[in-house]
Amino acid sequence: MTDALFSRIADKRDDLIALTQGLIRIPTLNPPGQHYRDICEWLEQRLGPRGFDCQLIRATGAPGDSDRYPRWNLVARRDGQRPGECVHFNSHHDIVEIGHGWTRDPFAADLDGDRIYGRGACDMKGGLAASIIAAEAFLEEHPDYAGAIEISATADEESGGYGGVAYLAERGFFAPDRVQHVIIPEPLGKDRICVGHRGGWWAEIETKGEIAHGSMPFLGDCAIRHMGAVIDTFEQRLFPALAARVTDMPVTPEGARHATLNINSVHGGESEETGYTGLPAPCVPDSCRMVIDRRILIEERYDDVRAEVIGLLDELKQSRPNFDYEIRDLNRIDPSQTPMDSPVVTNVHAAIAEVMGTDAAYIASPGSYDQKHIDRIGKLKNCIAYGPGVLELAHKPDEWIGVTDMIDSACVMGRVLERVLLPSG
Ligand SMILES: [Zn+2]
Repeated sequence: MTDALFSRIADKRDDLIALTQGLIRIPTLNPPGQHYRDICEWLEQRLGPRGFDCQLIRATGAPGDSDRYPRWNLVARRDGQRPGECVHFNSHHDIVEIGHGWTRDPFAADLDGDRIYGRGACDMKGGLAASIIAAEAFLEEHPDYAGAIEISATADEESGGYGGVAYLAERGFFAPDRVQHVIIPEPLGKDRICVGHRGGWWAEIETKGEIAHGSMPFLGDCAIRHMGAVIDTFEQRLFPALAARVTDMPVTPEGARHATLNINSVHGGESEETGYTGLPAPCVPDSCRMVIDRRILIEERYDDVRAEVIGLLDELKQSRPNFDYEIRDLNRIDPSQTPMDSPVVTNVHAAIAEVMGTDAAYIASPGSYDQKHIDRIGKLKNCIAYGPGVLELAHKPDEWIGVTDMIDSACVMGRVLERVLLPSG
């Protein structure tokens, strides 16, 4: 039975290529969020005639949603003949900006040997296409199955997922009576299982000063020098403390097993007007702003992470004359980890062994993806990221997806459907 499914998927090679190309050719750039409705309707035209009940859902009022750039999502469901569990494949349909350095047309979806090139090829339209082919092959091979298959294509993963998975989770789309297993086909590699991701805290710190003439800085108070003191404190005290913390989660690459902090930006003094060619005016800056991106290990608590930074700033307030600051939270991402004995983990592990004969590696993501919303809002722990593609190609010029990798991972996904949805597995 299993071999029949594998050869059915292999026979769909041309269909898989055309499907992937069709998805890449719809330029769903985010920001601002272009062609979201187009890609959802295109997928509805594919899945509707194959028996899927398709819902197009606009995340009205979500961040970024407007009549010009509405945040559209597609959820397609096909119920079997008998009750059973539901396996849900969730892919984001948005892609990041093109950037520089391409040697190919980013939306032509050229096939060259085993590779399809284009923005979003690996992250993650190739994974979406693989999951669709897996589901369609399964349905042809096993029309009499129990339970349900869901395929979603969701908005805005690249900008936090609030107009996508978070919106759907808040409306019960991942409720336990509806979905039991979730696979997110992000490009983690066809023989690796991603059990979760680190968390994050983004904040803006502003130091205050007093404006004065730049020839008499002693009459003012330089906010940038105060920010220099903040950075110096981070260098002396915070960075060594973070480097000393190591997670037990299998985060890849190794460096990300430590707690990390990035200083995303520092802005102080008068703003740089584009197009202005004159000299700057001499002023002591009265404000300096810094955006920090602190990544949180599963063993850390969000409140402690904030308190650690605020504690250092408060110490400076005590010790440094005229030091004052404000801090504003920008974003909170909770770490998420699926237990290693979860059904979705063990089923995908077994399927990888059957399809590729390899012992799958367990990894966790240094950044984050939509698992956080399925976990925290949807209260569904049985969720992983598994899909084709080379992670390092994501967001890069000349991004591509391998056709053979898509077929292999589609076989794994199809085998998981057999294990969960066929009564005798
Ligand atoms: Zn992605």
